[in-house]
Amino acid sequence: MQSDQVIEKFKETGALLEGHFLLSSGLHSSVYLQCALVLQYPEEAAAFGRSIAEHFREQNISPVASPAIGGIVIGHEVARALGARFIWTERQDGEMTLRRGFSVSPGEVTLVVEDVVTTGGSTRDTIAALRAKGAQVVAAASIIDRSAGKAAVGVPLVSLATLSVPAVDSSNCDACKRGEQVVKPGSRTVGK
Ligand SMILES: [Zn+2]
Repeated sequence: MQSDQVIEKFKETGALLEGHFLLSSGLHSSVYLQCALVLQYPEEAAAFGRSIAEHFREQNISPVASPAIGGIVIGHEVARALGARFIWTERQDGEMTLRRGFSVSPGEVTLVVEDVVTTGGSTRDTIAALRAKGAQVVAAASIIDRSAGKAAVGVPLVSLATLSVPAVDSSNCDACKRGEQVVKPGSRTVGK
C-alpha cells in the first residue's frame, strides 16, 4: 500500500482532518488525526495490517505487541497477517506493563505496532516493558509517523505513511496570525 493511498483512506473516513486545530498537547496544527475513524472499518484495518506485515515476513515474529488502546486494532491485524500471537501492554499507575496473564518467553522475537507515532513515547515504553520480561524486540511499526521521521524508538521503525506537519505554539501559528478560528476536534468548543 502506497503512502498516498493510506492518506487517502484516512481522509475518506474523516480520520485525517485538515484545518486549524488545537491538539490535546495545547499546540496548534493544520492536521488532526483520529485513527479510530479509519480503523472502525475492519477491511481497512486488515489492509493496513497486511501492508505492515509485508515488511516483516522473513523475521519469524511472534508475538506482535501493541500499547493499549490505540495500537490494539492494528496490532491484532498485523499479527493475523504474520500468523503470530498478539498481546498488548497498558499503563498501570503511569507505567507500561503486561497484564491479563500475558507473558513473553526470553528471546521471543517481538514486533511493536502502534497506530500513530507522534513522539515515539508509548512505543519506547512498550519496548522497555517487553524487554524487561526478556523479549527480543527487533522492530516497531505504525500506520502513520507524524514525526517527519524524527521519532527515535531505539529499533528500526517502519511506517506506511509519514507526515511532516508541525504542531506549534499559538504564538508561532500562521493560521492564528491570519485570524482563523481554532477548532478543538471532537468538541463543539471553538475559541481563538
Ligand atoms: Zn493557531
